[in-house]
Amino acid sequence: MSTRTYCEWCEEPLSPSHTGPCPKCGKTGKKCEVSASEIVTLRSSYSLEVRREFFDENPRIKWLINILGLGSTFMGYFLQREIGIFFGLFIWFILWLLGPYSIIKVIEITRTRGD
Ligand SMILES: [Zn+2]
Repeated sequence: MSTRTYCEWCEEPLSPSHTGPCPKCGKTGKKCEVSASEIVTLRSSYSLEVRREFFDENPRIKWLINILGLGSTFMGYFLQREIGIFFGLFIWFILWLLGPYSIIKVIEITRTRGD
């Protein structure tokens, strides 16, 4: 909130602490005006925010995990010993990396402006 102080007679701006006669017209008396501009600003920027948070599946990653998981199971039938273990570990590592990306967090924000 801002205040404006001025002379009662000639409307010459004065400091809020000013006492005595006006420096311009010499008459005594001052008016004080309180501006409510900031209240108006607050009211015009009023808004309502609705937040909705939920988890969703990432279909591409989900399918990739399914294919890799099933693929490695059947590959175990054809691969021998050390190669099979190495391959299994490699697939497991990829699945471990992909795991966190299979679920995505969705934040839906709806803003309603007041007037
Ligand atoms: Zn004056």
